[in-house]
Order: sequence, then structure tokens, then C-alpha cells
Amino acid sequence: SDAGSQKERVVTEEEWLQKWEMGNIGFHKEQRHPLLQKYLDVLLNGRSGLRIFFPLCGKAVEMKWLADMGHSVVGVEVSEQAVKEFFSEHSLPYCEEPVPEISGAKLFQSTSGNISLYCCSIYDLSSLIVGKVDGVWDRGALVAVNPRDRQRYASLMISLVEKNSSYLLVTVSYDPNKHKGPPFYVPESEIKSLFG
Ligand code: SAH
Repeated sequence: SDAGSQKERVVTEEEWLQKWEMGNIGFHKEQRHPLLQKYLDVLLNGRSGLRIFFPLCGKAVEMKWLADMGHSVVGVEVSEQAVKEFFSEHSLPYCEEPVPEISGAKLFQSTSGNISLYCCSIYDLSSLIVGKVDGVWDRGALVAVNPRDRQRYASLMISLVEKNSSYLLVTVSYDPNKHKGPPFYVPESEIKSLFG
């Protein structure tokens, strides 16, 4: 469980944009994630009408699924192409507006109002801008964050969640000396120290 060889690795925002442009998006799945279906009850905890946050959302199909259940979804994604593909692939009309607090950022909202995707870096967000959320689906997010930025990412996530919210986190376990990532290997001990 030594993540040493990945510690220094950096994937820039530009490289992520290029992955989207090249269609190099093996992380995107057309089917809903089985673990979200399995642990949906844990996420909802008997509550309805939640605000659910998707950090580093890509065009995750689960956003549509949760919105159709009556929840509102907030996501953040650096690639505008990804955000636009999400709305067009689900035939969802949307509007787009600047975010005054963040230069260059845009907010894409479904016309029905229950899906709000911020197109910017997650590190530009704060609870003053997005408000608080009741639940988090973190798949392909913590594991996509550059290892050196994990502490900053976790602190931000903690600042965005309401008390009594549920945070579902998916990680992958493998020998970090054999693959360079992403997804990066995040040891269990580090998850504990990041999130407590
Ligand atoms: N969670 C999604 C996508 C995972 S891939 C899914 O389950 O399918 C990680 C995504 O994060 C990519 O789409 C990438 O463009 C985006 N990303 C990378 N760095 C980011 C950052 N700093 N802020 C916002 N999005 C980022």
C-alpha cells in the first residue's frame, strides 16, 4: 500500500480537456454504477428532495437518474464539452449563464431547474457559491484528483456538505507501481485521515 510512485504525478486541466476532445474517456459508463444502486438507500437515508453533489462529474448518467427521482443535482466539471454532451445525450434543454463570482466559469442549468452543472475547476467553488449539499456521489473524483491536491479537495468537500449528509466514495485498489493513474490509488488509511 505504498502510493509513492504516484505522489508527484500531475494531470493538468488542459490534459483533461484533451481527453474529452479525443474521446479518450474510458471512465465514462453508459450504465448506472452498480454501487450507487446498491447504496442508494444509504445516500438518501429515507429523505426526499435532496441536493446531491457530483464532484468532477463528467457526463455521469446517474445525474439524470437522481434528478428523475425528484432530487436536485449539482455538479462541477472543467470540460464544457462534457457538460454539453450530458444535456444533449439526455435530450435535456438547458440554459447557460456566467457565474459572477468566478471569472470564466459558466453555470449550465436544465430548463426544469433540477440539474445545475458548474463548468469550472472544483477549486474555484465554495459553499458561498453553490450552497450546501445533502449527499455526495464521489466516483472518479477523489481518485482523479492529483495526489498533491487531495487535502485541499477533501477540505472543500467537507465544507460543502450539510450535517447528517451521506458521502458515497468509490475508490479502486491496485498496485500503484504498475499503473500511473488516474484513477490514482488512494489507500484506506489516507481516506480516513482526509475525511475523518
Ligand atoms: N465522475 C465522472 C467523471 C470521472 S473522470 C464519472 O463518474 O464518469 C474525472 C473528470 O473530472 C473528467 O471529466 C475531468 O474533465 C474532470 N476534472 C478534472 N479535474 C477537474 C477539476 N479540477 N475541476 C473540475 N473537473 C475536473
